[in-house]
Amino acid sequence: MINHTDSSLRISPIPAFRDNYIWAIENSDGEVVLVDPGDAAPVENFLADSNRSLQAILITHHHADHTGGITQLCKDRKIPVYGPVGNHIKGITHPVKEADIVTLLGAQFEVLAVPGHTLDHLAYFLTIAADHHVTTAPALFCGDTLFAGGCGRLFEGTAEMMYTSLLRIGALPEQTRIYCAHEYTVSNLGFATKAEPDNKAVELRYALELRKREQAIPTLPSTIFDELRTNPFLRCHSVSLKKQVTMHMAQELHSDLETFMYLRRWKDQA
Ligand SMILES: [Zn+2]
Repeated sequence: MINHTDSSLRISPIPAFRDNYIWAIENSDGEVVLVDPGDAAPVENFLADSNRSLQAILITHHHADHTGGITQLCKDRKIPVYGPVGNHIKGITHPVKEADIVTLLGAQFEVLAVPGHTLDHLAYFLTIAADHHVTTAPALFCGDTLFAGGCGRLFEGTAEMMYTSLLRIGALPEQTRIYCAHEYTVSNLGFATKAEPDNKAVELRYALELRKREQAIPTLPSTIFDELRTNPFLRCHSVSLKKQVTMHMAQELHSDLETFMYLRRWKDQA
């Protein structure tokens, strides 16, 4: 499975653990930047195939399934590891924060602070390739913040933090491709059909993504365009969704943020 961002970079998923994807961004010389290598073994296999060389690592947040491979991968390589500030993640050599720009493979990755799932959570927005002869869609590597059809659990942040982060991601250009870190799409959309039962776009997408999974095809990347139409966590303004949340959570809702908060709780219990 290969997704081209432009003529010079391609983005491939390296499956890890049960449902993680480690994203590999690669130029035509086989130089690779990884996002969230939770496990070194599948990455080494990927690199050995076609003699690729690892150039750098980007980390979105501190959870072990996103960081567990750093030490092993850096053992015999002198490469930069970018990630959240705070010294709490072993192996990070270049701490980054909101609005920093990381230039790798001749492309620019803009750092977005998107707290909620964890307090340290970052996303990387890939916009321009070095040889920008071809204008193509930007890509967002967003870890466990926005998922296709869903969002990450609130382990550390508040509902308000997460909702703000999701709205920020939702405001990116609609053609932006979403490279999140887990294959949760089908289960998320199953929940979405309950949260917004009269949304035809959800129903159609659910059927489409189910078919992909039956053939073991990744459902990612998604796009902001699809998420805005089918992801209930980006649709807290929807009157019909509010009605379902009110019913299931026995709560009167006074704002989109409250809708988000109780929708997240409902999914946690589902
Ligand atoms: Zn996580």
